[in-house]
Amino acid sequence: MVSRVIPVEPFDLVIFGATGDLARRKILPGLFRRMVAGQMPPESRVIGTARRELTDAEFRAMADAALSEFAPEADRTPEIRATFLDRLDYVRLDALGAEGWDELAVRLRPDCVRAFYLSVAPTLFGGIAQRLTETGLATPDSRIVVEKPLGHDLASARALNAQLARGFSERQIYRIDHYLGKETVQNLMAIRFANALFEPLWNARHVDHVQITVAESIGIEGRGAYYDRAGAMRDMVQNHLMQLLCLTAMEPPAKFAADAVRDEKLKVIRSLEPIGVAEVAERTVRGQYRAGNGFASYAEEAGNPDSRTESFVAIKAGIANWRWSGTPFYLRTGKRLRARLSEIVVVFRDPPHSIFSGQNQALHGNALIIRLQPDEGITLMMTIKDPGPGGMRLTEVPLDMSFAETLGGSGALPDAYERLIMDVIRGDQTLFMRGDEVEAAWAWTDPIIAAWEELGTRPAPYDPGGSGPEDALMLMHRDHRRWREIEA
Ligand code: NAP
Repeated sequence: MVSRVIPVEPFDLVIFGATGDLARRKILPGLFRRMVAGQMPPESRVIGTARRELTDAEFRAMADAALSEFAPEADRTPEIRATFLDRLDYVRLDALGAEGWDELAVRLRPDCVRAFYLSVAPTLFGGIAQRLTETGLATPDSRIVVEKPLGHDLASARALNAQLARGFSERQIYRIDHYLGKETVQNLMAIRFANALFEPLWNARHVDHVQITVAESIGIEGRGAYYDRAGAMRDMVQNHLMQLLCLTAMEPPAKFAADAVRDEKLKVIRSLEPIGVAEVAERTVRGQYRAGNGFASYAEEAGNPDSRTESFVAIKAGIANWRWSGTPFYLRTGKRLRARLSEIVVVFRDPPHSIFSGQNQALHGNALIIRLQPDEGITLMMTIKDPGPGGMRLTEVPLDMSFAETLGGSGALPDAYERLIMDVIRGDQTLFMRGDEVEAAWAWTDPIIAAWEELGTRPAPYDPGGSGPEDALMLMHRDHRRWREIEA
């Protein structure tokens, strides 16, 4: 199957922080792939900016090296690669100073889509937005792209939104959560709202519970300074897991359009049962990996022997609305776990009466598994008769679909960043978070963090390479449920 490429208008994309890790690993390779796919009109230009002194040629050489490392397929297409590099320019610019802005103004053209990608530390977001406004580079149609962390708590998220709002209207602001750019996440909406099969079952009457797991096998990988102040709750739950929960739980929007979808997601966040001091011990688990299996402990990696930051969190969330009341959403995320795995598991209730007495004890029952990582796909677990002459014994089998295979080989799926950058150019905000969503998510997570602090809870230690602390298993066991294994 060949995926359809939606044409975009010619654009000027300015990358602030163009020499940084995100630009090299994701943004530049993503743009290259979109050009190869025929989605980057020849008149388009990418203008990299940072403080260091580079000529256009030196910046192109840096981008060339980034392609070799992060888009190795570029080596097979030297002419196309040269065409891409030719579309790159560089302007030396200090985001907080006066230098460079006039030069940037000269490079920007009045007659094409203009987007500013802030691939810099969030402390610079406000200053850059302000400079873009003062210098008149932010036209009424230009777009600004920012990425997590979008604040550290509700107050800082509000302050950031207010800073951005001084120069840009909400329809110009693109807050990236790259999870929303994944094929499977969008497919979640297609599966729910384009098929008549699931929607009648998508509620507390038929769904026993939902599990959302985002497991990483890596540790904090040199991000200790940032991570030790954030922890799994701020780094993963407030954004990625909340977004997955919203898409799973939301009501059907009136249409597939940015505000219709985002209105429904916001309603879900606002319907989450609050978790405060009274509930936090029963409904949340924090963990921190210790040393083992050849790995250093979290505290050693973070360089903070007394760190109380969680590298794992599990939460039993409840949604207080007609559709979901009584169906818990169990969330968990952590580092140094057995495998890298992200999935949403919708576990359906057992049939009201089993005619196969004594058979179903060990079986999970029907479950729809929406896999985001490592391979994107969907599996429906079905119970069938165990084949053979052994009588009427039941077993579970997967009805499996891998998107990469269905679309004709791995690599056929665009990376989330590729898709999202092109959505920015097209002016489609459906897969981006609105400011009020971000604030509502913080309004739910802040009291949980405050309760942990008030109670002085220490994260429970867990072994690297496992599935997190024992307490996380107990969170489910207490409810006579169990997590699906974390397996690659
Ligand atoms: P990074 O590697 O530290 O790069 C920062 C970039 O900003 C560099 O190009 C740096 O170049 C430039 N810069 C720093 N201060 C500047 C200033 N005053 N004026 C102009 N440019 C300045 O950071 P990163 O990992 O790419 O991350 C960028 C942003 O994306 C951060 O907000 C991060 O949280 C977010 N993010 C990153 C990833 C990832 O995979 N890396 C994933 C999700 C989110 P000079 O030093 O030459 O100025």
